[in-house]
Amino acid sequence: MNPIPFNKPFMTGRELWYIAQAHTNGHLSGDGSFTKRCHRWLEQNTGAARALLTHSCTAALEMAALLAEVQEGDEVIMPSYTFVSTANAFVMRGAVPVFVDIRPDTLNIDETKIEAAITARTKVILPVHYAGVACEMDTIMDIAKRHNLIVIEDAAQGIMSTYKGRALGSIGHMGAYSFHETKNIIAGEGGALLVNDPVFAERAEIIREKGTNRSQFFRGQVDKYTWVDIGSSYLPGEVIAAFLWAQMEEANNITARRLALWDSYHAALAPLEAEGRLRRPVVPEGCTHNAHMYYILLDSLEQRTEAIANLKRQGVNSVFHYVPLHSAPAGRKFSRAHGGMAHTDGLSERLLRLPLWVGLEEEQDRVVRALKEAL
Ligand SMILES: *Cc1c(COP(=O)(O)O)cnc(C)c1O
Repeated sequence: MNPIPFNKPFMTGRELWYIAQAHTNGHLSGDGSFTKRCHRWLEQNTGAARALLTHSCTAALEMAALLAEVQEGDEVIMPSYTFVSTANAFVMRGAVPVFVDIRPDTLNIDETKIEAAITARTKVILPVHYAGVACEMDTIMDIAKRHNLIVIEDAAQGIMSTYKGRALGSIGHMGAYSFHETKNIIAGEGGALLVNDPVFAERAEIIREKGTNRSQFFRGQVDKYTWVDIGSSYLPGEVIAAFLWAQMEEANNITARRLALWDSYHAALAPLEAEGRLRRPVVPEGCTHNAHMYYILLDSLEQRTEAIANLKRQGVNSVFHYVPLHSAPAGRKFSRAHGGMAHTDGLSERLLRLPLWVGLEEEQDRVVRALKEAL
């Protein structure tokens, strides 16, 4: 029996055709017709005032840090249970990530612990929508408003998910998506910045275009193209955008197929949860999710280590993540935790991710059987 990989990028079949079109168009640098199509799709599907493709979600978060004018010593409140880029984009500006614990149900930042972590230096609240399931955004936006803070959503995993009918990434002042090949909608490496507060829109274009007003120049809004601000090169070329366009066209189908896989795991594992042998993911009322990930929570680190090894012997590749940032070497150097990290530490040691990719349909039973055997 062939081993079942943890992830397998799904291709719609039209990627190479669109790349060939970009080739024929003869426009290979950024912001050509495919990039424009992707921008329009993102704006229409999220309601963002402005969507801008970037090289990665990491790049979009770096842009957000520049737009928020985060300075040396400013504090950014975020969960410790997240990918390194959430913190790094702000550490690069000299800011200090301040970690608060996560909720035991969704593994998202515990919104009830945010307010106590606010100091005179706090500038940004950075919710991460883990597994494409929304943070409690109403509470977070209310805290931000009362304390005059900027909200930047790390929606790397959140495309096609909603919170009370609104797209993840479109609720804060800014949001960041990832199109890395391990996400739902992919471009190999890629991302997007959603600018929801139009106040940031003009400067976002300038920062993305090396600190120049090139975008305005091409629209005929200014008569010369020149250096006007700080910035870097954050825009992907048209080959990436052409690939991504093929994926965006199929976003509804991809999401539906992932949700079907997620739902079958959820149904198949319900009896094991009832017997107290594992805990399944929780999706709160008012949230729709994109089936980015199916994880289970086991009893202990030892049990997880054994389960991964046992699954592997049966040809099923499962993984875990993250090492909480507050306990990582760079985290200890650049950031601090506010309050206890009991859920972050406890849950991160017990979480196991099962394979979930479009095409797994025929082999999903094998994963479930192997898991039952492993437990
Ligand atoms: C994947 C991911 C990122 C980074 O995305 P890239 O596109 O690889 O830069 C950031 N934050 C979270 C929560 C992620 O899952």
